Amino acid sequence: MKNMKSMAAKFPGTCAICHERIEVGEPILWESGKGARHAIHGEEAVALPKPEAKALDTVEVGDLAGVYELFEKARQHLKFPKVVLMLPSGGILKLSVAGPKAKKPGTINVTNGAAFGVGKWFGRILQSGTMEQGRRDQPTSEMIDLLRMFAKAPADTAAAFGKLTGKCCFCNTALTDEKSTDVGYGPVCAGHYGLPWGKAA
Ligand SMILES: [Zn+2]
Ligand SMILES: [Zn+2]
Repeated sequence: MKNMKSMAAKFPGTCAICHERIEVGEPILWESGKGARHAIHGEEAVALPKPEAKALDTVEVGDLAGVYELFEKARQHLKFPKVVLMLPSGGILKLSVAGPKAKKPGTINVTNGAAFGVGKWFGRILQSGTMEQGRRDQPTSEMIDLLRMFAKAPADTAAAFGKLTGKCCFCNTALTDEKSTDVGYGPVCAGHYGLPWGKAA
């Protein structure tokens, strides 16, 4: 009894047997509920195991103990601690801790800080200092350099952004007084992140 229809593919798709692509016009066998397969597999073929998703490329950015400490302090006051860093070329790098519902909770997500749709996810940094890079948007060498600098001296690197932009590196609010522009963050965020503020340099 023949249940499958033999035809040429009208749409591109994925073969139910070999999981490879089916191009428009390729000879296929099709049955409602079973999907399409390359005709060469025949009706009796059993689906092959699906190939494992390819692991993400990684790069080492260094020991992040200081960064985690910074975020840990902030989490006592803030639900979503974040740091915005400025790249020498002008772009922005936003670091935030992945929430409990994330794929890998507690890791640090690195994005361009833009809204959904135009946002780019460059990857996540694990506690070990290994960064798993995004598939679509990979960090540039400039970004990796900045992340390494940040890993080494988180508070100083974050503050440098605030000094550069005149905005608090943690909450993006404009810094209005000299004590704040001196350190690169405001008094409220200094309290949240456990950083010195207002002491004469
Ligand atoms: Zn196939
Ligand atoms: Zn702030």
